[in-house]
Amino acid sequence: MRFAQRLSRLGTETAFEVLARAQALEAQGKRVIHLEIGEPDFDTPQYIRKAAADALEAGFTHYGPSAGLPEFRGLIAEQWSRDRAIPCDADNVIVTPGAKPIMFFAMLALLEEGDEVLYPNPGFPIYESVANFLNARAIPLVLREQNGFDLDLQELESKLTSRTRLLVLNSPHNPTGAVLKPETVQAVAALARKHDFHILSDEIYARIQYEGRHLSIASLPGMAERTIVLDGFSKTYAMTGWRLGFGIMEKQLAKHVARLMTNSNSCTATFVQKAGHAALAGGQAEVHAMVEEFRVRRGVIVDGLNALPGVSCFMPRGAFYAFPNITGTGMKSGELAKLMLEEAGVACLSGTAFGAAGEGYLRFSYANSTENIRTALTWLGEYLSVRAK
Ligand code: PLP
Repeated sequence: MRFAQRLSRLGTETAFEVLARAQALEAQGKRVIHLEIGEPDFDTPQYIRKAAADALEAGFTHYGPSAGLPEFRGLIAEQWSRDRAIPCDADNVIVTPGAKPIMFFAMLALLEEGDEVLYPNPGFPIYESVANFLNARAIPLVLREQNGFDLDLQELESKLTSRTRLLVLNSPHNPTGAVLKPETVQAVAALARKHDFHILSDEIYARIQYEGRHLSIASLPGMAERTIVLDGFSKTYAMTGWRLGFGIMEKQLAKHVARLMTNSNSCTATFVQKAGHAALAGGQAEVHAMVEEFRVRRGVIVDGLNALPGVSCFMPRGAFYAFPNITGTGMKSGELAKLMLEEAGVACLSGTAFGAAGEGYLRFSYANSTENIRTALTWLGEYLSVRAK
């Protein structure tokens, strides 16, 4: 079979490959602790599961509008304008199966070949992958530990050209757990207005922030019309497998994205949207409890990593990832991640799974029990101490 050339430009997400390798080891009888995959280990709250079951019984088993159910889009708009000060109504919201399609659709709708996309590196690998796939130019913005993994505004300015069309922000950030400083968000907005580019603001971890309040760039003056906010239910409500996300964007763009939905998925499953509606309308106690539990685990994993020989760990302020610096071990990230899985039974990701600037780091997801995190740290400690001798 002959494949289209464009496939050679499509990247992937290593987490799924590491998960498969870890499961193969488990099938051979090895015990593995999973700190590689980015999903809450909690069950979807019961009231949300019940809403889905009720919706199925009530006949929400048919096609729905490509843009999403109008009441659901209205509720999202109401809450996001109230809680994040993003000026919007239902016509600005497009519901998609998971948040990921918003990356794809926004780039498909906005980028011509050769247009430039600035994206964080290390960062979620799909931004670079989709930009390359569309023959746009993916330009990395390196996030540095000494800068708290914040954006380097000087570097950003120096990389702006007449072809700059889109800048990707992600705060709280995967994989570092960094939260952009409000001054940085303000400065990026000023640059976007001055140089007339768009922002894809990936806010999927906005509700998992341990200090301060999330600031959406779309809430700043003149920014709602040039920002696509990406958000969803996967992380906040432990609904990764349900596939439910959405974008908030300017209305003309929303119409185009709805047409992309018609051409690809037709619509997002309607009973899943009903569950999402219930998630937003119901009490948020379980979300708060989950975030508090993540806060405890963050302390355990960061302290534990800092106690390992050759390892030091930045304190993440959001999401559920720790991104330790491992240069003191003398090993490359990819090599160490592989050995940790094969020899110590701990699955994590190489920092390079998030771009070249992730060299020197590993990513651990602490969406696992405190007990498992402690055991993993003990195994890693034993393994690294033996290696150091
Ligand atoms: N954005 C970031 C930064 C993520 O880490 C993820 C999932 O890992 C997504 C988006 C995708 O979310 P969803 O599962 O809703 O498609």
